[in-house]
Amino acid sequence: MRLSRYFMPILKENPKEAEIVSHRLMLRTGMIRQQSQGIYSWLPLGKRVLDKVNKIIREEQNRSGAIELLMPTLQSADLWQESGRYDDYGKEMLRIKDRQDRPMLYGPTNEEMITDIFRSYVKSYKDLPLNLYHIQLKFRDEIRPRFGTMRSREFLMKDAYSFDLTREDAIHSYNKMFVAYLRTFDRLGLRAIPMRADTGPIGGNHSHEFIILADTGESEVFCHKSFVDFDIPSVDTDFDDVAGLQSIFDKWTSVYAATSEMHDEAAFGTIAEGDRLSARGIEVGHIFYFGTKYSEPMGAKVQGPDGKEHVVHMGSYGIGPTRLVPAIIEASHDENGIIWPASVAPFDAVVINMKAGDAACDAACEKIYAALTKAGKDTLYDDTDDRAGTKFATADLIGVPAQVIAGPRSVANGEIELKDRKTGARETMTIEAAINKLV
Ligand code: ATP
Ligand code: MG
Ligand code: MG
Ligand code: MG
Repeated sequence: MRLSRYFMPILKENPKEAEIVSHRLMLRTGMIRQQSQGIYSWLPLGKRVLDKVNKIIREEQNRSGAIELLMPTLQSADLWQESGRYDDYGKEMLRIKDRQDRPMLYGPTNEEMITDIFRSYVKSYKDLPLNLYHIQLKFRDEIRPRFGTMRSREFLMKDAYSFDLTREDAIHSYNKMFVAYLRTFDRLGLRAIPMRADTGPIGGNHSHEFIILADTGESEVFCHKSFVDFDIPSVDTDFDDVAGLQSIFDKWTSVYAATSEMHDEAAFGTIAEGDRLSARGIEVGHIFYFGTKYSEPMGAKVQGPDGKEHVVHMGSYGIGPTRLVPAIIEASHDENGIIWPASVAPFDAVVINMKAGDAACDAACEKIYAALTKAGKDTLYDDTDDRAGTKFATADLIGVPAQVIAGPRSVANGEIELKDRKTGARETMTIEAAINKLV
């Protein structure tokens, strides 16, 4: 992408309305724009990051055996009356009427709709286990939307729903998501801690929130320090290995970790003082096992091996991609801007032409830009006629991991400078060496 032809509206001033660093940086870099309270457009730079986050989420959901579909944002109230949640959900639900005066709603979650899909098609235990997910916008009319897309009213959620014959099978499905989540957050460059959690309006009795420790987090959390050393399940994890997954779950839940709603001061007190961590955290994912809470009232049943009908056991599993993007920034930035983990960086590299219009600089940059692009690297080429200082500041601000800096003096020797955004380390090398290193 040539910056001269791109749409990346960088703000010169720090936006006053932003209270936390991620919100400030997302506005300054032109990643998002608020359209009305708690409702955002994702501008091109932000959209690139969001897409990369979604791709990782998708890969790990698929690896665990979950299957993607797409449900609509607008739902008919009927299904919610069947489950009994239409009246319970309260003011967070945006209720709408269509031209025939039929009550509709903008979905805050999809348990009812997926249960309806399930009951319409699946009739036998032989078709289980089944886990269906989508990545779709949700709407919750939050009392206090704030911190940009961290707590917005319209937001993206990956929500998965599992169906099993028995409670035991459902716990295996739960463990699959537990492991998929550990892998997902790790690939996003985050250390998320699974914590015993309250189930809220989703209901159920077995639940974990995945929390990222951050001073700006809205949750109060308590845990043992040892989580930082726990191993992330490998890419070769066998998701059909019931005992294997259970042992990963057991390991990760073997030490104390709870959100304030589930906090047990006495149990926490038994941990050695130096190992206790009482902190703030951001909820980036939440998984629930809720048994027959929806399948019972909505009649989602299958025929079992005994020939009888059984109400299926369900779980649901959410991740917030539009919250994850600011959460990653909260965890990874410095005074100059964002430092993207390579896995979600909007561009892999930025080529900075310090003197656009200078024939030698242009030729060197074009050569590098073409080679990186050809190799499939997402490359931003700063070919504008801004001052070099402005270009450096922009490159640091948007946090692209590798910066290729081409100035007249180095280019005259067939060389460029390679700068690592994270460490700040600079290295002078030939154009060929730089290409080889980056592809
Ligand atoms: P919170 O406690 O922050 O209000 P929640 O517990 O209501 O979140 P869940 O119903 O568990 O949210 O939804 C699953 C995931 O969706 C959350 O873990 C979070 O990542 C994301 N999410 C929920 N509400 C919002 C929101 N208002 N803005 C952005 N992401 C959200
Ligand atoms: Mg909420
Ligand atoms: Mg919550
Ligand atoms: Mg939650």
